[in-house]
Amino acid sequence: MRITLSVIKADIGSIGGHIKPSQALIARVKEFVEEEGKKKGLIEDFYVSHTGDDIAILMSHKRGEGNADVHKLAWDAFRAGTEVAKAQGLYGAGQDLLKDAFSGNVKGMGPAVAEMEFEERPNEPFLFFAADKTEPGAFNLPLYLAFADPMYCAGLILSPSMAQGFKFTIMDVNYTEGDRIIELNAPEELYDIAALLRDNERFVVEKIHSRRTGEIAVSASTTRLHNIAGKYVGKDDPVMLVRVQGDFPATGEVLSAFSIGHYVAGFMRGSHNGPLMPVKLNSTTSFFDGPPVISCAAFCVHNGKLTEAVDCFDHPFWDYIRMRVAEKALEIRRQGFSGPAMLHYSELEYGGIVEKMKKLEERFRVRS
Ligand code: MG
Repeated sequence: MRITLSVIKADIGSIGGHIKPSQALIARVKEFVEEEGKKKGLIEDFYVSHTGDDIAILMSHKRGEGNADVHKLAWDAFRAGTEVAKAQGLYGAGQDLLKDAFSGNVKGMGPAVAEMEFEERPNEPFLFFAADKTEPGAFNLPLYLAFADPMYCAGLILSPSMAQGFKFTIMDVNYTEGDRIIELNAPEELYDIAALLRDNERFVVEKIHSRRTGEIAVSASTTRLHNIAGKYVGKDDPVMLVRVQGDFPATGEVLSAFSIGHYVAGFMRGSHNGPLMPVKLNSTTSFFDGPPVISCAAFCVHNGKLTEAVDCFDHPFWDYIRMRVAEKALEIRRQGFSGPAMLHYSELEYGGIVEKMKKLEERFRVRS
């Protein structure tokens, strides 16, 4: 059976600042997708969850990527949720819904989207990742390590089905006229891939395919909100779908790189660097409006029906990792605004600091 997985997420309001959406908001979104999507046969199945202040709708259906009806379902569900957010006085109600009227595809309208269409395998395990207080480039390093580095993905040397490696599709997210992409093959072009993926702000992995079968392995969201709104309106918290096992890395190989807690952009006001902490499903944010968090739900899908979600980071091992990542967060926070603790000026150019710099510019003088 040919199936499409679509995950669409947005921040449409949260309690107490940026902590989490309310139960009533989440219930309204669930109810809307159930009534207008599943019961009407538009989608096969769905799962609604939150990571920090973002609410995500994962859907399985037979309508292919970029389907206007499926996108409209998610858009309308977020609008229904926004009504609840406004009624409850939630912070940032509807903040990621940047446009007034739906125009056929939620891409470019605020929400983040990751989609993949494939022929279901007899057993079809996949992972759904959602991050908060960070940006799409946060997935660059974990994806590079899971799909191109045998130091993290043992399957690259142990499994004949992965011996030919993977094709990376990488997007230049600073280009706003359209989708500017490049396709590079691992392992032959490993250094080229690394040269791009080191720059999390500009180059972002959009898709990864198996080179042996051509099958899709990864689809990640690439939206940068400030490129849509023309100003800072929140961080571009990404979502990602990863098929695992068989021709793809094992679940544990994909999870393995998240043990690093690598430093990513985001954190307080989307303006700092902080370590990416793997957290349990439906976690909140806290310290310094962070730290940047990543959650992972594992599923199998069969004939479009999803199993229950299994929480990949709910295991004693990850408790230890969280402690280590907390130490990394404290360490970089000790230096406040200084140097790499806060993002470079070019990444803050849409914020209030621009005004401050203009005023200071006038007071500068060159000593004669
Ligand atoms: Mg968020």
